[in-house]
Amino acid sequence: MTVGLGLAPVGPVDLVVGGARLVVTMDDARTELLGGWVAIDHGAVVALGSSSQPEPPARRRVDAAGGLVTPGFVNTHHHLYQNLTRALPPSTSQGLFGWLQTLYPIWAGLDEEAAYVSAWVGCAELLLGGCTTTMDHLYVHPTGGGDLITAEIAAATDVGIRFHATRGSMSRSRKDGGLPPDHVVQEHDEILADSERLVDLHHQRDRLAMVQVALAPCSPFSVTPELMAETAALAERLDVRLHTHIAEDLDEDDYCREIYGCRPIEHLEEVGWGSDRTWVAHCVHPNEAEVERLGRWGTGVAHCPSSNQILGAGLAPVQELRAAGAPVGLGCDGSASADSASLWMEARAALLLGRLRGGAAAMQARDALELATRGGAACLGRAGTIGELSVGSAGDLVVWPLDGVAHAGALADPVEALLRCGPTSARTTVVAGEVLVDGGCLVHEDVAANLARHARIAERWQS
Ligand SMILES: [Zn+2]
Repeated sequence: MTVGLGLAPVGPVDLVVGGARLVVTMDDARTELLGGWVAIDHGAVVALGSSSQPEPPARRRVDAAGGLVTPGFVNTHHHLYQNLTRALPPSTSQGLFGWLQTLYPIWAGLDEEAAYVSAWVGCAELLLGGCTTTMDHLYVHPTGGGDLITAEIAAATDVGIRFHATRGSMSRSRKDGGLPPDHVVQEHDEILADSERLVDLHHQRDRLAMVQVALAPCSPFSVTPELMAETAALAERLDVRLHTHIAEDLDEDDYCREIYGCRPIEHLEEVGWGSDRTWVAHCVHPNEAEVERLGRWGTGVAHCPSSNQILGAGLAPVQELRAAGAPVGLGCDGSASADSASLWMEARAALLLGRLRGGAAAMQARDALELATRGGAACLGRAGTIGELSVGSAGDLVVWPLDGVAHAGALADPVEALLRCGPTSARTTVVAGEVLVDGGCLVHEDVAANLARHARIAERWQS
């Protein structure tokens, strides 16, 4: 079938990705095109077809022969700067709270160069794992650290990935009953003023926006209820989205009961965050009534399977949340807890954990693909633009290899093969019509230089 071929412009388009074994569009009808191709012009998809329709002429053609084409994956929760403290022993064996207390003093070294370089390397790693849009939750703003959000947006722009920065914040330090040390928290007025400045400076409102900004107080144990409520009001006024961690760990349940006299999701509602403007990270421990409430609000959930496993947080009720109506996407989470940043791996882990929780019938590869694409787009407020391939959607896609030793014998279903075989990384990653990963390698010339800068900072931090 051809979808919207008539809308292709006269003359050659910028890019055609063609000859795929299968194109999984993830459009509203979940159309799958055998032998398919996708045409992209001016950063957007202008036409799609199967092998029986001729490809339009193009200035560049990527041969996807034998591969599976999907929309680019969407990362809905991450802390890019944490790749400077990756796999640092023994932090993750201490559970969430012990892990954070080990790392807060090291993260206090964050400055503009560290924010830029960690984001550059992190975004490059994400492209290799099939991610074309990532958010970042940067909540450590040490005194004198500079404009960290602007630095990471510059890095993401240089790499070429679609980027949703979130202005994270912490306002409740140890002296006020919170978890972080005093020198990494900020005053309410400073946080709110900087949030508004960053939205004014960077938030693009056009449909194909490459950079957006959301507001993201860190967690119930590091910000005050007043800051949560004031941030929700500011997000409403500026018309931007809201993000935070919630219900990640049972220690957090105990903390909320003791400090706020209620459960984490009840706390979320009390501070005015029960809304479809909000997406939350983790949400491992909502009870049945809370799942129903999150669905009714339309609050999105960033499911982070690797992080939840490494920190022993538990099995998130992903299918229950989806059935209740809550959009669910995938997140790598911070590199210091998950230690890797591959959305392919998160999609596979979501498939396996979904089955572990609900039985073998509970989750199929197409469900996991839905989380990685459309679910993520809905969390970021970009449904219909990213996370699907349809006429007018963003020109963001991935060609996945289905050949070689790891896929030998996988003939029946390319989508099941994608997530049940492997390990797999992208053969080609395209963002806004630009080929950023080609033949499994980053095309950017600055990889070695940025890795060397990254190594210098990581050594300084960890010495
Ligand atoms: Zn996180």
